[in-house]
Amino acid sequence: MWNSKTCMDYAEAAVLHTYNRFPVVFEKGQGVYLEDLEGKRYLDFGAGIAVFALGYGVKEYNEALKEQIDKIIHTSNLFYHVPLAEAAGKLKAASGMSRVFFANSGAEAIEGALKAARKYAFLKDGRTDHEIIAMKGSFHGRSIGALSVTGNPHYQDPFRPLMGGVKFAVFNDLESVKEQITDRTCAIILETVQGEGGIYPADPAFLKGVEALCRDRDILLILDEIQCGMGRTGTYFAWQQYGVKPDIMTCAKALGCGIPVGAFVLNEKTAAASLKPGDHGTTYGGNPLACRAVSAVFDLFEKYGILDHVKEVAPYLEQRLDGLVEKYDFLAQRRGMGLMQGIETAGRPVGEIVSKALENGLVVLSAEHNVLRFVPPLVIEKEHVDEMIDKLERSF
Ligand SMILES: *Cc1c(COP(=O)(O)O)cnc(C)c1O
Repeated sequence: MWNSKTCMDYAEAAVLHTYNRFPVVFEKGQGVYLEDLEGKRYLDFGAGIAVFALGYGVKEYNEALKEQIDKIIHTSNLFYHVPLAEAAGKLKAASGMSRVFFANSGAEAIEGALKAARKYAFLKDGRTDHEIIAMKGSFHGRSIGALSVTGNPHYQDPFRPLMGGVKFAVFNDLESVKEQITDRTCAIILETVQGEGGIYPADPAFLKGVEALCRDRDILLILDEIQCGMGRTGTYFAWQQYGVKPDIMTCAKALGCGIPVGAFVLNEKTAAASLKPGDHGTTYGGNPLACRAVSAVFDLFEKYGILDHVKEVAPYLEQRLDGLVEKYDFLAQRRGMGLMQGIETAGRPVGEIVSKALENGLVVLSAEHNVLRFVPPLVIEKEHVDEMIDKLERSF
């Protein structure tokens, strides 16, 4: 029967080799712990890449999904269903925005956001040469459109030619954004907190400056909240702490807490003058199972006071991480917001630390080539932070 060795061998023989996976076979999870096939336990500070915000084995969430499976899983977007109405309403309320489109992933949410922005500009002036400004060091996904606005040559170069009309500015450098603006610019897209690029929060003055540039010229501001959204920074969406408002927001990852779902959300101005019937669609997107998951996630966030909990536990995580940076020479800097934190490692390969941590029963992630990334389930307690620090120090 299956053990870790046979599983890894079979998988490697059948799965396209697009990931260098760590040699661990996870079987189940409970709370903030994962368990592998041999029964070894791991404290999880990765949450399936910032996905499993509520932790594993949450009874109400699992029951909601089981109930929906027994009713109906899929009907297509040709018809209405109650989970759609509920999920869209809750996402609308949490964001204070106007219209929701459900997709199946982050990349698809980005694709829809880019299409909405182009259509908005097209309806305004009829031109077909609009430009989008994106940021260097950004990450927006792997499909061609999303890849085209991902400012990382390593991801982009083998797949050229990409989508045209994309220009790059430097994140947190307002002048560099101004320099890229032309009369054809239709949107500026950025992550409120850059994730894969190494955990860089936007400077408040930068984000406010970008918003002002957008308002001045009727350029649409697209904020990618796929990783930093859904409570991770202590508010539902990170931009809610900046006093700015996007025209279009994308979310995914923790939106369904494990059921694949993404969304782009439009404000009224953009929704009223962009995508119309026939312009965009998806077979699976926002099906009853996915929407039931989204709806349950919002309910449980409220029931368990997740946002307040993040605000309470995050300063403690910051304090303990700062302690590490002080103590170890090869740790250079901590950055982040809420329960989305990174430590830059100066003198040591981050992959080796992540591997060692796994041996010690701790899941942490990397970002870029030199950043240790901490994106735990949002339900962690201070004692889990202590346990993480302990295991991490042993891994150094
Ligand atoms: C993960 C991520 C994406 C892509 O999401 P997928 O579901 O992997 O397509 C896009 N933007 C950001 C900020 C992300 O972190």
